[in-house]
Amino acid sequence: MKVTSSDIVISAVKPEQYPNTPIPEFALAGRSNVGKSSFINKMINRKNLARTSSKPGKTQTLNFYIINEALHFVDVPGYGYAKVSKTERDAWGKMIETYFTSRDQLRAALLIVDLRHPPTKDDIAMYEFLKHYDLPRIVIATKADKIPKGKWQKHLKITRQTLNMEKEDELLLFSGETGEGKEQAWGVLKKYM
Ligand code: GDP
Repeated sequence: MKVTSSDIVISAVKPEQYPNTPIPEFALAGRSNVGKSSFINKMINRKNLARTSSKPGKTQTLNFYIINEALHFVDVPGYGYAKVSKTERDAWGKMIETYFTSRDQLRAALLIVDLRHPPTKDDIAMYEFLKHYDLPRIVIATKADKIPKGKWQKHLKITRQTLNMEKEDELLLFSGETGEGKEQAWGVLKKYM
């Protein structure tokens, strides 16, 4: 996919702020620091449009990015960051539940996990949440550059098994560093647009 334009639309905390357009949307869910922002930046050939932060758990907003005036990526605040109060965690839960259960434009959730390690219990809970609400989901195992190519298939298998993924759900390998898997990811997204 040739990306000719990309921009941030809004950092939203409530539905009234979500862009009021029928543009197809893909939301990125995943642990803090797993590589969600890097995924967006690599997909759109931008170094720093989506904020990659070394402070996990900091962003508590839904960040909407528009690509080619044709689709939105929505960066959802990450989970699994230990130093978050119960109040903050509850607010996070409410925000993502509202978003995922009410957003008509949402075509699929991209669940970003770390290829190096088996998915965490939070990753499993997120996958189950998406399944519960019958939301199309695509699992993206990133940071592939951090392990040798010869081990990719083995790690993908562990990812699929640990998440107990449905057979028909897509699992893609990715690297926000090298761009490995990028065209394949665009190919899958196109099917949902
Ligand atoms: P987010 O919190 O999920 O948005 O994660 P970020 O995109 O900010 O990434 C967190 C850290 O992991 C940053 O230091 C990134 O440079 C690094 N990172 C993200 N994706 C990759 C990847 O595919 N390969 C490598 N080697 N590092 C990555």
